[in-house]
Amino acid sequence: MLSIISFVLGPVQTNAYLIADDENGAAAVIDPAAEGEVILAEAQRRGWRIGHIWLTHAHFDHISGSAAVADGSSPPPPVGLHPGDYWLWRNEGGAPLFGMRIDPGPEPTIDLVHGKILRLGGVELEVRHTPGHTPGHVVFYCPAEKVVFCGDLIFQGSVGRTDLPGGDFNQLVESIRTQILSLPDETRLLSGHGPETTVGEERVSNPFL
Ligand SMILES: [Zn+2]
Ligand SMILES: [Zn+2]
Repeated sequence: MLSIISFVLGPVQTNAYLIADDENGAAAVIDPAAEGEVILAEAQRRGWRIGHIWLTHAHFDHISGSAAVADGSSPPPPVGLHPGDYWLWRNEGGAPLFGMRIDPGPEPTIDLVHGKILRLGGVELEVRHTPGHTPGHVVFYCPAEKVVFCGDLIFQGSVGRTDLPGGDFNQLVESIRTQILSLPDETRLLSGHGPETTVGEERVSNPFL
């Protein structure tokens, strides 16, 4: 079974997810948004070992906690990112555009390409490339648990913004159609901001689709 702990962290209320195979405590952080020490403390309290940092995309509000998570883990977990967002990662996730500076943490060494299978203990997640919000945006789909960690691709009643560098609205809608709306209605969507929703709910009520 996959255990999922969510946190709302940082200046723009970003959702970070600490997930683990509860059989053996093998854990990963999806989008360590900020305040990595808060995520670390929760993992330690539960006796989980963080072995991976997986990024849906490289915007600063999804990566600012990487440094603290890595510094507090031994060995430091490798960081996974789609190659299409490396340029953004190198530019501090666009933070300077908003007058901020961040430490993006350890350099990504795992290429999260479309179709790659990520293993967490006995749980498997599939990487799906979903460009539009950023060129290298991905989502993580766990078929056994019927859940998608969907970053800033789609939100309850909304979709990711496409006015930042590398954004493309038509591409975003195409990504949602092919990679999200193709999934069963009961599939849970855990977004990068705001409350959880489902594929079925967005299929009928999302005004952008
Ligand atoms: Zn974003
Ligand atoms: Zn975001």
